[in-house]
Amino acid sequence: MNIEAKELSKIYGARENRVVALDKASLTISENDFISIMGPSGSGKSTLLHLLSGLDHPTQGSLTYDGRDIYSLSDKALSAFRRQRIGFIFQQFNLLPVLTARENIIMPLLLDKKQPDEAYLKQLTDLLGISGRLTHLPHALSGGQQQRVAIARALIARPDVVFADEPTGNLDSKSGGEVMEMLGSIPKKLGRALVVITHDSRVAQMADRQFTIVDGTLSEVKVWK
Ligand code: ADP
Ligand code: MG
Repeated sequence: MNIEAKELSKIYGARENRVVALDKASLTISENDFISIMGPSGSGKSTLLHLLSGLDHPTQGSLTYDGRDIYSLSDKALSAFRRQRIGFIFQQFNLLPVLTARENIIMPLLLDKKQPDEAYLKQLTDLLGISGRLTHLPHALSGGQQQRVAIARALIARPDVVFADEPTGNLDSKSGGEVMEMLGSIPKKLGRALVVITHDSRVAQMADRQFTIVDGTLSEVKVWK
């Protein structure tokens, strides 16, 4: 698995309203990578994550997954590609309030008319500590539990890569710490790449490769390990 983003730029607006949200960002993501991207509010973090995951298209630049240019896919093919190969975790959890935890987790499979692998579902929910909460509706779960359900949903289709946009931003520091610990174990335990955006330097330092983004410019931080 190899994801290659080359000089991705995103420009919003024109003339006096022109905003360069992302300026020629290049990044390669390989199997089992754990990458963090840290930057202040408004620096282009979400823009970058949306481009890398095909949720949005760039003004310029290219993105390939195993050599395949995903921006050239039709909307329908791209949606299917995203459901099967990419997991996404939002700051606001984005669970469907009328569905139980289990139904939320398996939703991406149902959209592809697939049944869950019960052994894998159990492995995931055990790992995330939510096996005893699967019949609950989201409102009956704590914030940390809701985010762990969202993590299971992001992993259920066995994607190549999971992108998380400030996954602990809505949690208190204790449950945020628990969520990050579980999330951070995913590359090694489940063999998926993980890209986490955060304002929190402790979260950023858990990653094997660290990037910063300032005013739309992405750079890798060299860490001596
Ligand atoms: P971050 O996630 O780091 O807080 P964003 O990627 O959301 O930052 O935003 C980067 C910049 O792009 C900001 O200046 C923001 O105001 C601008 N921006 C984001 N989305 C839009 C949009 N849809 N239209 C215009 N400007 C936008
Ligand atoms: Mg953001």
